[in-house]
Amino acid sequence: MKTKLIFITGGVVSSLGKGIAAASIGAILESRGLKLTIIKLDPYINVDPGTMSPFQHGEVFVTDDGYEADLDLGHYERYTNILTSRHHNFTTGQIYDTVIQKERRGEYLGKTVQVIPHITNQIKENIYTAAEGNDVAIIEIGGTVGDIESLPFLEAIRQIGHELKGNQVIYIHMTLVPYIAAAEELKTKPTQHSVTKLREIGIQPDILLCRTDRDLSVELRKKISLFTNVTYDAVIQARDVDCVYECPLRFHDEGLDDKIVELLQLWTKRSNLQKWADIIYSSKHPKDEVNIGIAGKYVNLRDSYKSLHEALEHAGIALNLKVNIIYIDSETIQDQSDAKKWKECDGILIPGGFGERGVEGKIEMVRYARENMIPYFGICYGMQMAVIEWARHITGLKKANTAEVDQNTPDNVIDLMSEQKNIKNMGGTMRLGAYPAKLKAGTKIAEIYGKTEISERHRHRFEVNNKYVAQLEKGGLVISGKNVKLDLVETIEISDHPWFIGVQYHPEFKSKPVDAHPLFFGFVEAAFNYKLNRAKAD
Ligand code: GLN
Repeated sequence: MKTKLIFITGGVVSSLGKGIAAASIGAILESRGLKLTIIKLDPYINVDPGTMSPFQHGEVFVTDDGYEADLDLGHYERYTNILTSRHHNFTTGQIYDTVIQKERRGEYLGKTVQVIPHITNQIKENIYTAAEGNDVAIIEIGGTVGDIESLPFLEAIRQIGHELKGNQVIYIHMTLVPYIAAAEELKTKPTQHSVTKLREIGIQPDILLCRTDRDLSVELRKKISLFTNVTYDAVIQARDVDCVYECPLRFHDEGLDDKIVELLQLWTKRSNLQKWADIIYSSKHPKDEVNIGIAGKYVNLRDSYKSLHEALEHAGIALNLKVNIIYIDSETIQDQSDAKKWKECDGILIPGGFGERGVEGKIEMVRYARENMIPYFGICYGMQMAVIEWARHITGLKKANTAEVDQNTPDNVIDLMSEQKNIKNMGGTMRLGAYPAKLKAGTKIAEIYGKTEISERHRHRFEVNNKYVAQLEKGGLVISGKNVKLDLVETIEISDHPWFIGVQYHPEFKSKPVDAHPLFFGFVEAAFNYKLNRAKAD
């Protein structure tokens, strides 16, 4: 194999931003003209994160091929041109699953199946397969060095370093250099210990990324270098940044990409990070601001709606606006008298969601946006809420609901498709991944996309019930997009509303900082216009 491998491990604590570091390194190396891929190895036993609560694990990112992935794959796609798939994310659960199936088929006949070599061989095989065909593969190992779960992964990558000699493999270790207020000092001890731990299992890092909230002095870098056996010029600081899209620029300023290509002996052109500089400039110098209200259940955790936040930020960058997000806990909404809470919102967005909690509050919010001509964007569950609201208040089906919330509703305007009714296993069985949709010419959504054939990513079980479509369309609800082959509603809009769009899919997964998704761009623009008109009227 010719591909050069960059392994990224983490130490001291979790949440240091390894995913963003991996993605940023990818961005810089891509700008140097290298063909690359990024792979995430997760030490947990779940086969995929699809069944994990977003409270615990953050957002489930969906790939084109319908894999429910770790949210780091979202970073990889946002920073680079890589189109991730199920081959870009492996968990302990998947590795064991494969090995156990092989054992049952008799592929290890006569042998005792063990962590070393069978589990580690499977990890290596997966890495080699995913890396093949690229100049560089960046492999991020989830978890923190010292965890029991990550040991087989670390052993496997140690072996790879042993197998592929001669500038083909490097190890980057990300650590924390905390500032201790009482001592008024940055402390290197956690980094020293973390590298010791890594060396105990046979891995000597080549580069350290030291997460810190202030600059590392020359003395401090020398000290870290001395204690960890990492050369002075490979002790790289990763200072906190205001905007995550600054990371490629900061890493480049620190000489990280030069160090990487030197160690891997790669001959490349110079990096060009102008587009990242432009993004940062726009993000730091907004001409104005706009308030977007988001109603949801996972209102407390930014990570639960990671791609959504990023997509709104991308639209803000493209429009040179600061997007303020106002969270609204839909469980606290009783009726329209709660609308005063939303007075500040220039646009209302209801994102994807599951289950009955907070549903009535969401429906009230849709009503408020519809009746008051406030821009509304409904994504997945948010589109289903819009259909229910319309059915109840315009079509006159007072008990209209989704079968997800009320199985006995007389008007199941949102229901399971027959194939979903037979499903027993909850893992990986929703309508997942990219599906095409045909948009009706002349509709607002077709104008926004500038085309009528689109493909977007899905993650849901329920659909608009076709039995009601004719009735729903009567008062002015437009079924503006459909999956023709499966005869499913994909998008809706209201004709006499300035901006009211619902989509059954998740456009946020395909938005990039350098290429904001047209729907988010259109929505934030409409919200800003609403704000300007409101200011004029006052
Ligand atoms: N709960 C809804 C469904 O399963 C919507 C899912 C979502 O918003 N991602 O259809």
